[in-house]
Amino acid sequence: MIKNLASGDKTAPKTISRDQETISVITSKNKPQWQRELANAIRSADLLCERLGLKAIGSDATTTQAKASGAEAGMTQKDGDEASLSAVLEQFPVLVPESFLKRMTPQNPRDPLLLQVLPSFHELDKAVGYSFDPVGDRQSVFAPGILQKYPGRALMITVGQCAVHCRYCFRRNYPYHQSPRSLEQWGPSLDKLRQNRQIEEIILSGGDPLVLSDQRLAKLIGQLDAINHLKRIRVHTRLPIVLPSRVTEGLLDLFRHSRLQPIFVVHANHPNEIVDDCAEAIVRMVRAGIPVLNQAVLLKGINDTTGTQAELCRRLINLGAIPYYLHQLDRIEGAAHFETGVALGKKIIEELKQQLPGYAVPKYVREIPGEPGKTELT
Ligand SMILES: *Cc1c(COP(=O)(O)O)cnc(C)c1O
Ligand code: SF4
Repeated sequence: MIKNLASGDKTAPKTISRDQETISVITSKNKPQWQRELANAIRSADLLCERLGLKAIGSDATTTQAKASGAEAGMTQKDGDEASLSAVLEQFPVLVPESFLKRMTPQNPRDPLLLQVLPSFHELDKAVGYSFDPVGDRQSVFAPGILQKYPGRALMITVGQCAVHCRYCFRRNYPYHQSPRSLEQWGPSLDKLRQNRQIEEIILSGGDPLVLSDQRLAKLIGQLDAINHLKRIRVHTRLPIVLPSRVTEGLLDLFRHSRLQPIFVVHANHPNEIVDDCAEAIVRMVRAGIPVLNQAVLLKGINDTTGTQAELCRRLINLGAIPYYLHQLDRIEGAAHFETGVALGKKIIEELKQQLPGYAVPKYVREIPGEPGKTELT
């Protein structure tokens, strides 16, 4: 079962089980660098604010910066709202790795990277048409932890955690606890996958599948490798963007040595994300021979101009990564303040077509529950 893994030779299973034993005695010293960085990520709005030299109002750690951003937008807040925002933040707290923070401009409360991760009182706004499950995930469960919406491909909710909390996230309310956890628990779902010969591509998603350790990924890939009708393994991940140190040679080897064709789909929204260690991580993936695609979400006040989108696309293609999708925002409760009009998105795409090579222009899409694929907005 664990054939073809890691080094691809017969000693691989032994190496893996030895590694597993070491996991249980792992200390913060011998943890991989990326795991240490994740453990040390910023988890409070107050600290985030402080690190950027932005003023935090009041003293409560979770509501101060949100209040600041609310105030910035000209809002006044009642105490009751503060209490409910605290409740929201308890469910979906601030999470920002140091690497991503470094790419923000100090003292700029409108920094496009900051706005993706900064909680706001607007998350409490009730907007018509917004719900907890705007994309019909709950109706598409193929087996516990596996969604199938489209022919030929199935999506595995491998883990609930991410390395960053994006305030617009469409899965911010997903019932992750209903997904299997250990590989043993995945058994019955993998059996169903084994029985469905129509599925050629497995998409590892979450959460973010790359928060899993190399050891756990190796075991999972081993199981998937052994399902004969699968041909491709796709990874939907934001870690190469927000925590680039995750992209190690060891990680790339796991996918390079899989029987399945790997495809990485990363998620960057703004050109300022594609610099320094992040740009280097993209180059590592591309040089490893793995196709790298990007999906972005059109976000009001963050990347909703042609200039910004064009620069994002240019930085990606200059590194060998291809713009794949530009998503119209999914209508998840708490994210209405990020929505832009579809007419604007269409205009941006038309203008991109006039400036960039055909392969550099992403497809502008929206997810409509019940449709057999993403719906292109043209
Ligand atoms: C978006 C999505 C996919 C992938 O769609 P592609 O058009 O192949 O990128 C697959 N499964 C689910 C459940 C999805 O939401
Ligand atoms: S990384 Fe992806 S899944 Fe995680 S919070 Fe951001 S958008 Fe959501």
